[in-house]
Amino acid sequence: MVASRGVGVWHHRQELETETEQKVLDHAARIALIPGDGAGPEVMAEAVPLLDWARARGRRLEVERLPYGADHYLATGETLPEAAYAALRDGCDAILFGAVGDPRVPDGRHAEEILLRLRQGLELMVNFRPCRPLPGLQREGLWLEVYRENTEGAYCLQGSTEPGRAVDLAVHTEPAVRRLLEAAFARARARSCPLTLAHKANVLKHGHGLWVRVFQELCAAHPGVTARGMHADALLCALVQDPSPFGVIAADNYLGDLISDLTAAFAGGMGTAPSLSWAPHRPFRCAVLAEPVHGSAPDIAGKGLANPVGMILSTALLFRHLGWESEALAVEAAVAAAMASGARTRDLGGSLSTSDMGTAIRGHLPG
Ligand code: ATP
Repeated sequence: MVASRGVGVWHHRQELETETEQKVLDHAARIALIPGDGAGPEVMAEAVPLLDWARARGRRLEVERLPYGADHYLATGETLPEAAYAALRDGCDAILFGAVGDPRVPDGRHAEEILLRLRQGLELMVNFRPCRPLPGLQREGLWLEVYRENTEGAYCLQGSTEPGRAVDLAVHTEPAVRRLLEAAFARARARSCPLTLAHKANVLKHGHGLWVRVFQELCAAHPGVTARGMHADALLCALVQDPSPFGVIAADNYLGDLISDLTAAFAGGMGTAPSLSWAPHRPFRCAVLAEPVHGSAPDIAGKGLANPVGMILSTALLFRHLGWESEALAVEAAVAAAMASGARTRDLGGSLSTSDMGTAIRGHLPG
């Protein structure tokens, strides 16, 4: 049973994604699991039964669990070995990812190498971060989506530290900017909603100047889309005052990171926000990355306090990408039904543990 958009259920329909025919895999979906560190394995444990449930409904999938994260790094010195990366690149349809980051690795080297290798190596420049508050939460009915460039900008890790001087480069390339913006325009057109580009081209004249130039070109090519650029500081102020006029927000890596944490707060906080990253220019079978927006949350990890909703909704996004729309909608409806019945983890004012919340959600899945 699939609930309709009219009752405020969290979902977006695949047919809004593109105007092209929905894609369906012609083989068993190969899904790699990387639970990672901290709260990652805890929330992943609530996503795995959804894969079993999809299989029981007749979906064909093969699952492989990979050990990469802090424990593996500390034991072996490996972050993401070349052979494993090549297998993900060439033989995998989707990666379901928990989180990486661990206080035992203070420089974050393993997390950086694993995540950046996946995002940059697989050219997953479109990071889609929807925000639809769940039933019972404030701002129900809001529908924001952040399209964050995911491979470059200020997070390209180029820079230097010298005595008294530190430099971080931000590199923006036209192909990545154009692909991210094209995806955002397509989405705004499909949803018939406004598109806003967040930038600071008034000071970041080169990098954000490129974003504005490409944006203006695409505005001319998409006269049906109500699109405008806004300085990111003014945009943040406007969002806090009233997010309802906004629809799709496009931004570079750094601004998109900040803005999507703010939009996550509109939908219940870090524990509820899902994401999906993909490479729009690569064939359908190339791996996508589904992961909650939150990190490894070391402050609450291992205590059963993490909210699994972001991870579970990320799994729904993965199902939708695979063409399993009925499963995607059913998972989203189950999350909404659990929330409507009052199921809450501590971050949302309740007392359920991570696994109890997962169980409550699964209790609303159809057989
Ligand atoms: P990153 O750099 O990857 O964004 P971070 O260290 O900035 O990570 P998170 O790990 O996302 O941040 O944690 C930020 C805050 O959100 C922490 O207080 C954490 O406890 C909380 N948080 C993160 N994930 C969850 C979750 N699943 N449920 C509840 N609270 C969470």
